[in-house]
Amino acid sequence: MNQSAQPEAAAPRVFIETYGCQMNVADSELIGAVLRRAGYAAAVSPEEADVILLNTCAIREHAGDRVLGRLGDLARLKHARPELRLGLLGCMAQHNRAALVEKAPWLDLIAGPDSYRRLPELLGRARFDPAVDVRLDRAETYADIAPEHEGGVRAFVTAMRGCDRFCAFCVVPYVRGRERSVPPEAIVADIRGLAARGVKEVVLLGQTVNAYRRGETDFGRLLRLVAAVDGLERIRFTSPHPCDMSDSVIEAMATEPKVQPWLHLPVQSGSDRVLAAMERGYTVEEYLGLVERLRAAIPALALSTDIIVGFHGEEESDFRATLELMAALRYDSAFSFKYSPREHTRAFKLGDTVSEEDKGRRLAEVIARQERISLERNRGLMGERFAVLVEGPARRGNGMLAGKTPQFKTAVFGAADSIKPGAIVTVRVQSATAHTLHCALV
Ligand code: SF4
Repeated sequence: MNQSAQPEAAAPRVFIETYGCQMNVADSELIGAVLRRAGYAAAVSPEEADVILLNTCAIREHAGDRVLGRLGDLARLKHARPELRLGLLGCMAQHNRAALVEKAPWLDLIAGPDSYRRLPELLGRARFDPAVDVRLDRAETYADIAPEHEGGVRAFVTAMRGCDRFCAFCVVPYVRGRERSVPPEAIVADIRGLAARGVKEVVLLGQTVNAYRRGETDFGRLLRLVAAVDGLERIRFTSPHPCDMSDSVIEAMATEPKVQPWLHLPVQSGSDRVLAAMERGYTVEEYLGLVERLRAAIPALALSTDIIVGFHGEEESDFRATLELMAALRYDSAFSFKYSPREHTRAFKLGDTVSEEDKGRRLAEVIARQERISLERNRGLMGERFAVLVEGPARRGNGMLAGKTPQFKTAVFGAADSIKPGAIVTVRVQSATAHTLHCALV
């Protein structure tokens, strides 16, 4: 909920805490809009809120543990103020509702990702008894609700919800339900509003965003519709699935200048055996072929990925194959994770065959390998020029500004006060680390 908005007198105040991915951040903006319509105002801290909502993630066990710890803190707040209403929303609510009722009996509300439209009614009911609503709805896209986007030069816009892929390790199809695409008119209207407010870049979101389809509009067509919005400068999307990377999407990326040369393309493993066990739907050869096509069509493309180590049955040779794939493709960056079995998934029944020690060692090796590659790639950019979308002061200060190149690399540079967030400036790379390009304004 937009905290700069003025609370109406006596309106109940709500504080939303968000965990997990960008989809959850976008959902919190949607929840803010639903509650605003119902007369709630934004609270600036949990201490001054009448309602606290945790919008949660169930992808990894670690995320759930953090939320449970936080619920313990909030229980103390509720003990001091019994009229405070505490709600748990999102994927964890959907995934662990039974356990949550037992572990956190002080919760007033548990609601899944398809129940946000009913939140005002549920909060009303929660005054008297705990309210639980985790119905999944194959049609819900919230297309008629304009999210309360946070300010900034970049905004995240949900293009599709849910997932039909059912990878063996993943809870998303169970907690977010089946795939459905937001009507293109609603997406474009939202983005027009954002551009009018000075947003320069949008990131279209979906669990398999490139599987987007609404009537005749596939994801390639959607990219072109969004690109036609005046005032918008840059478009990105995340996360695409390799199997849905159609010619139409590649062509839109290659020919539409606003679509940035950056792609987060999760591979998960470099072993065919593990990919088959994960039920990812592609082989290593097919993935390599796709990257070759992408790089041929979009020469400036930066590529990042997700890698899981220690999946059920992963042998040392499978893990070595992942390292080889990394060496062959030389990703610009990678997010790597240790496999942890998630209840309700197909892989959960298979069990966990790789020891924690081996998982830890493999993860450290993947991270070290990627750090080296990222550093080499970034150093290879020294002397090159990039158009950077300015975001604001650099995190380490010193009067420097920071922004993103088209390849979504962080560029830091000294600049005059006259350069404001949202400006696009040209910089030249002078030095680089694995994560940052140090630049001079041209
Ligand atoms: S594509 Fe696979 S990993 Fe991605 S959200 Fe769907 S089931 Fe999960």
